[in-house]
Amino acid sequence: MNTIFANLPTTIFEVMSQAARDRQAINLGQGFPDDPGPEDVRAKAADATLNGYNQYPSMMGIPELRQAIADHYARFQGLKIDAPTEVMVTSGATEALAGAIFGMIEPGDEVVLFQPTYDAYVPLVLRAGGVPRYVALKPPHWTFTQEDLAGVFNEKTKLVLFNNPLNPSGIVYERSQLELLASFCEHFDVTAVCDEVWEHLVYDGRRHISMLELPNMRERTIKIGSAGKIFSLTGWKIGLVVAAPHLMKVIAKSHQFLTFTTPPNLQVAVAYGLGKEASYFDQMRANFQRSRDRFCKGLIERGFPVIASQGTYFVNVDIGQLGLEDDVAFCTKLVEHYGVAAIPVSAFYVQDHVRTVVRFCFAKKDETLDEGLRRLETAVADFKKERR
Ligand code: PMP
Ligand code: GLN
Repeated sequence: MNTIFANLPTTIFEVMSQAARDRQAINLGQGFPDDPGPEDVRAKAADATLNGYNQYPSMMGIPELRQAIADHYARFQGLKIDAPTEVMVTSGATEALAGAIFGMIEPGDEVVLFQPTYDAYVPLVLRAGGVPRYVALKPPHWTFTQEDLAGVFNEKTKLVLFNNPLNPSGIVYERSQLELLASFCEHFDVTAVCDEVWEHLVYDGRRHISMLELPNMRERTIKIGSAGKIFSLTGWKIGLVVAAPHLMKVIAKSHQFLTFTTPPNLQVAVAYGLGKEASYFDQMRANFQRSRDRFCKGLIERGFPVIASQGTYFVNVDIGQLGLEDDVAFCTKLVEHYGVAAIPVSAFYVQDHVRTVVRFCFAKKDETLDEGLRRLETAVADFKKERR
């Protein structure tokens, strides 16, 4: 068997969601909303299933979705994209990541990764024969410096994987950080795989800046989006890939033997959804921001040291400040004894672990958040008693 996969643990998202199912816990672990998602988009998918074309579509995606992706990013991110040569649809951002990584690197090539690293990145890089070089980001700011990058970029670097807004940290990088990373990509002739699946989920008036917007990165960026995130329909697994034609040609070849195509009925619905008014996206953001604020207020009132969340579905707490040292032990106890699932952030580190940060998903109905908070209150009181 292949040792990389044989030796891997099951992903923390599955482990925690299974623990939550087993114990009927409130699942604030894996990131998904407990809302059914926009009804008009789901109705389009239903109609396309009943009345549309349900055979293999083009491996690049249906033309109307590819054009809708180009138009959507022109409207929201000011990008000029040529749909026939620069856009591809994949079965989720996860497949797009695999396609990009397998398509871009040769065994022995070095790949720069930022920790906390979204869980799919490292196994895919290793399976492609890549050699990871890690930058460890630390709470509460999770930023990186010139020295951090100088320590990992060199002539052997071929790829950098950059997730912005960053899951699990919930931060949104500013242009200056993108420019710093871009300067290293340019100097060492490195391609950036930019995982921007959380692009619409940025709060407090922030604007997501795509790496593709930086002129010196236009030809060396593979931008990855996810309709699952854009429409709060995480099970749909529709990935959106944008890259210059010379990159797209290669990633398309790798995609053709991963999944080849993606369900056309869902593509029709996503094409419709991407064309929705700006007010839809503003409202969605406002709703999640409200949930974030409600949940954070509840956490703070119960004595949890909250690390500010600027985007995504997630907020983190630093349990170190409660005198606790082990995020995995904390999360295990939380789900087993108190019926709340959360994610230990150390799962996203390979080295230089941060072990006292715990991630909660706030993309839930008020009742779910309130019940979660009620259980957390009992937990935190017990943890405090145990320390006395
Ligand atoms: N990248 C990041 C950073 C994510 O958070 C996720 C899932 N939430 C994905 C990729 C995977 O997206 P998809 O479900 O479209 O495969
Ligand atoms: N991205 C989701 C999260 O961060 C989970 C996706 C998955 O389960 N692979 O929670």
